Amino acid sequence: MTAQSVTIVEVGPRDGFQMEKAFIPTDLKVRVVDLLSEAGLRSIEATSFVSPKVVPQMSDAAEVMSRITRRAGTIYKALVPNLRGAQAALDSGADAVELVIVASESFNRRNVGLSVDESIVACEEIAAAAQGAERPLEVVIGCSFGCPIEGLVPEEQVERVAQAVSAFGISRLSLADSIGSGNPAQVTRLVSRIRATLPTMPLSLHLHNTRGLGLANVLAGFQAGVDTFDAGLGGLGGCPVFPGATGNVATEDIVNLFEEMGIPTGVDLEKVREASRLVQQFLGRPLPSYILRVGTARELFARAELARVS
Ligand code: MG
Repeated sequence: MTAQSVTIVEVGPRDGFQMEKAFIPTDLKVRVVDLLSEAGLRSIEATSFVSPKVVPQMSDAAEVMSRITRRAGTIYKALVPNLRGAQAALDSGADAVELVIVASESFNRRNVGLSVDESIVACEEIAAAAQGAERPLEVVIGCSFGCPIEGLVPEEQVERVAQAVSAFGISRLSLADSIGSGNPAQVTRLVSRIRATLPTMPLSLHLHNTRGLGLANVLAGFQAGVDTFDAGLGGLGGCPVFPGATGNVATEDIVNLFEEMGIPTGVDLEKVREASRLVQQFLGRPLPSYILRVGTARELFARAELARVS
C-alpha cells in the first residue's frame, strides 16, 4: 500500500554542510534551519555531535542547537557517532538522536573504528541514554545498498543489523544509500525484506543522487510502502568516495516529485529555495537541484516562450 502523504526529513544542515570545506558561519546555519522550519519541514537533522577535529564544520553543533528558532511540532535531530556525542546532543536539547551503523564491516570500522557487532553494543548504550532523557533514537544503516570497499552489501547483513537494533526500543530505522550506488530494484527488494522482518518498525530511506538514480529510488521506496524520506536542500552534499558526485536527493526535487503527483508533503517549496539560494550565494557555486535551477512544471508553463518545440 502506498501512503496518502509523505514526510520529508531535511538533512542538508548535517549531511550537506559537513561535505563543505569552507566553514559555513553559524549565523548562516541557523538562518537556513529557521527557513527550513518555516518551510514546513517537520523533521530537520540540524547538526551532528562529532569530534571537531574530525569534522570541523560541525564544531558549532551546540551553538546551532541553542540558537535555532524551534517551531512547535518540528523535530530537531542530531547525528551522533558514539555515547559521548549522544550525551552532548541530548544536553543540547536535540529532540531525537541518530546513530549510524554501517552494514559493511570494513566501512563501519573506517567510519567509527568499531566492528559492526561493537557498534550494535554501543547502540544499546546510546538507546538507554536516549530513553533516560525520554528522547527517541533513530538508527541509520549506512551503506545498505553498497559499500565503497566491499561493493554490493548482502541484504542479510542489513537485516541482521536491523533485527539486532530493533530490540533496543529505537523509534525508527533508516536505510541509507550513503554512496548512491543503489538502484530501484534493490530498494524494492530491501524495503520489502525489512518490512517483512520488522513489520511495525517505522522505516525511512536516505538516498543520494550520485548517479542520477535518486528520485527513481525514492519512487521505488514509496511504491514499496515507505512514507518518510531524507533530502538535502539544493541537493547539497556529495559522496566522499566519488569526487564530483552530486549529493543527497534535493529537497526541492523530492517535494516537487510528490506534489506534482498529487501526494502532499506540507512543504513550501519557495521557502526551501530561499534557503538554498542563501547557501548558493555563500558557496559561490550553483547547487544541483533541478527544481532550484529550472522550476516546477507550473512555473515552466508560465514562462515558456512560444518557440517551436521539435
Ligand atoms: Mg548521506
